[in-house]
Amino acid sequence: MRDSVLAALAAVLVWAALALLVLPLDKPAVPPDSPHVPAVETAPAAAKAPAPLPQAPDFDRNCRLAVQTEQGIRDMDLQTYLTGVLLAEMPVSFAEEALKAQAVACRTYTMSRTRHSRHENAAVCTDSRCCQGWRDPTEAEPAAREKAEAAVRATDGLVLLYRGQLIDATFFSCSGGRTEDAAAVWGSDLPYLRTVESPGEEDAAHFADELRLPLEDFRQTLTALDSEVSFSGSPDTWIASVRCTAGGGVAELVLGGRVFRGTELRKAFSLRSTAFDLRLGEDGAVFTTRGNGHRVGMSQYGAQAMALGGDDFETILKWYYQGVELVLADG
Ligand SMILES: [Zn+2]
Repeated sequence: MRDSVLAALAAVLVWAALALLVLPLDKPAVPPDSPHVPAVETAPAAAKAPAPLPQAPDFDRNCRLAVQTEQGIRDMDLQTYLTGVLLAEMPVSFAEEALKAQAVACRTYTMSRTRHSRHENAAVCTDSRCCQGWRDPTEAEPAAREKAEAAVRATDGLVLLYRGQLIDATFFSCSGGRTEDAAAVWGSDLPYLRTVESPGEEDAAHFADELRLPLEDFRQTLTALDSEVSFSGSPDTWIASVRCTAGGGVAELVLGGRVFRGTELRKAFSLRSTAFDLRLGEDGAVFTTRGNGHRVGMSQYGAQAMALGGDDFETILKWYYQGVELVLADG
């Protein structure tokens, strides 16, 4: 009887030991790139173990700058200014890491302007066509203000350098799938502003757009650009060739015997970007554009897609600005 109890006990112990060995392997294993698991859960930022970032307690609050607003020059600290820039330049509904990336890009731009301002008595102005947009944080919804300010505080003092110099941290709304070389848009090459893929932007309002024009309007606009352009034969024969940029934009288009740059066509027809196809027929001209903006530097919708995929702000910034360093501003 005692032997059988011992035997039973031994059997239980063996079973328990086996169970301990087997159970962990028994868990359903989900492959990291399973299509059934949202990307946001498969790539936790913590798993990447990024190098610790330098800390700058209160750099932004101790840095003061003169800002040219519509009501005159206002003196404010960098934290207040950048919070207002974020509120104006990026939807506050965007993910935290995208907002942090935007805060660093805007701080980098601002620090560069404090050294080389376009304005006589101010470092920057609040006109997005000149410097950066700005919205008074005290006039924003408290939740929006807090979210923007949190992104600024979380990146306190951080800027981007290339070979020791503050970079030209350009950004835009949406690339349409690929960003553009700075040289293709502005004529001068910057090694950190080169074309990169920018997937996941399909949710952007202007990922793809169409512009239709009557043929006569199209002809008039082109004639204003170049009076020697000739429109003979049927419209579908007017385009002789198209040369594209590395970033998928139109570099040059030979039309009606003349050469037009993609950037001048974008301006003349108010196209959303230089990444376009043009179709001509008797019923008119149809531009199909991809993306929205100059497409050089950081794509905001691309940053949002990366953030939702689990990338942190440093990874986002170093993707769109290649070869840069993330460091503390030296004041
Ligand atoms: Zn300005």
